[in-house]
Amino acid sequence: MSELGHKDWIAKASQIRFRDKAFIDGRFVESASGRTLASINPATGETLAEVASCGEEEVNLAVAAARRSFESGVWSRAAPAHRKQVLLRLAELLRENLHELALLESLDMGKLVKDAATVDVPGAAAIFQWYAEAIDKIYGEVAPTGEGDLVLVRREPLGVVGAVVPWNFPLDMATWKCAPALAAGNSVVLKPAEQSPFSALRLAELAVEAGLPAGVLNVVPGLGETAGQALGRHMDVDCLAFTGSTAVGKMFLQYSGQSNMKQVWLETGGKSPNLVFADCTDLDAAADMAALGIFFNQGEVCSANSRLLVQRGVKDALLEKLAERAAGTQPGDPLDPASKMGAMVDAGHTANVMRFVEAGKKTARLVAGGDRVTVNGRGNYVQPTIFDGVMPDDALAREEIFGPVLAVIPFDEEEEAVRIANDSIYGLAASLWTDSLSRAQRVASRLRVGTVSVNTVDALSPMTPFGGFKQSGFGRDLSLHSFDKYTALKTTWIKYSREPTA
Ligand code: NAP
Ligand code: MG
Repeated sequence: MSELGHKDWIAKASQIRFRDKAFIDGRFVESASGRTLASINPATGETLAEVASCGEEEVNLAVAAARRSFESGVWSRAAPAHRKQVLLRLAELLRENLHELALLESLDMGKLVKDAATVDVPGAAAIFQWYAEAIDKIYGEVAPTGEGDLVLVRREPLGVVGAVVPWNFPLDMATWKCAPALAAGNSVVLKPAEQSPFSALRLAELAVEAGLPAGVLNVVPGLGETAGQALGRHMDVDCLAFTGSTAVGKMFLQYSGQSNMKQVWLETGGKSPNLVFADCTDLDAAADMAALGIFFNQGEVCSANSRLLVQRGVKDALLEKLAERAAGTQPGDPLDPASKMGAMVDAGHTANVMRFVEAGKKTARLVAGGDRVTVNGRGNYVQPTIFDGVMPDDALAREEIFGPVLAVIPFDEEEEAVRIANDSIYGLAASLWTDSLSRAQRVASRLRVGTVSVNTVDALSPMTPFGGFKQSGFGRDLSLHSFDKYTALKTTWIKYSREPTA
């Protein structure tokens, strides 16, 4: 990893070029209407660029380009070994452009540049590499139908995949959709969040540099209600892969029903519980990871461990340690590698988070933080905040706040902990801390969530499926299972003669 200092990052940031147009059919194009959206650096309030704001017209062009490229077979029917080489090259290009991509993420949505350079960008490269390597290792099936019939079952790409993603991990969320969709041979139209278009636009440009044919990956920056809705309702989009809020996920299900019944895959919100049992002896590790689980990326993480369920015997000791961690995680300039937490994505979201904090001050006991702050007199920042004694039916315990706000809920018995943990409309992830293997297995099997991390938080890898139960969505990102979303099974039934022919 680079050892760039604060001044180095500032110098690099001053040189950076923002791609501000839509990327359609292999090149940057102006929006037809000329409409633009300001992309703002939330750490300073400065406008970084006015970016094309796409609507139905641009989405139609992008879908048409995707369809043309798909039907031409230039990618969809290219040799698997060739597709592999192109996506491997893309992974390399992401690594070669590490600093630029890390800065685009940080400037656009406020995260620490250090995290973007060590987590987000290497993560995206690793995922492109992983799917590239999978391309020529997946075999079809021969059905056991018997002599006289040869029945082949193959996975085929679906066609045009629409991907609509949020702003919290702009490059990674785009990658989680695009890497498997492209690896499977689809063409893609990607809509980044309005707050964070830059890394997606750069990704598409680098993909073409890597050898991806024009039209196979298109990017339409713009508003959800316009560009996102146009993709969701498009009659020629075969599949819509979404990451974002539960409320918007539900809209995509309606768009599909009201248009062409496209497949819809949803990765939506969460209110993940982190259960700490009194038989966990390493309370320091539990405190470190509980803090990371809610303060990393300013708490703007779908699987953030936002509910801490603590067994009463260790509650006071754990809370004391957590308050220390919070004190040491104060926000700072995202470009300073010494900073511990970055800026919130924008002023509107900061105000939403603060509404929960202010309401929480009336219903629970504030243990740490609780204030909106500035850094160098500007920007949108929230202190790492901890509330104790939160009642399970309080908004702090039920709503996805999507900020650095932790709700501590004490419990006595294992049964009670499982009941509180499962008492949520969400079911994305959970963590649990115990020295008992039996308890770990027993509790993990009863938690209604997609991923349970035991004695760690937010365990994640390209090798493991990620996604939710209940209103956290369905379908899985990452792992070979994500190919289920981007391919359809094709049966080819061949009859042949059982008798020798002359
Ligand atoms: P969001 O408001 O749901 O937006 C997500 C995407 O949908 C954005 O591109 C957005 O465009 C678009 N959109 C908004 N309204 C739309 C509409 N009416 N029709 C079509 N598209 C529309 O979510 P967010 O605030 O960006 O991100 C935070 C949410 O994402 C949280 O709920 C978080 O849990 C979730 N998330 C989930 C995962 C996961 O894997 N489960 C991962 C990360 C984040 P605009 O940018 O214009 O609004
Ligand atoms: Mg921005």
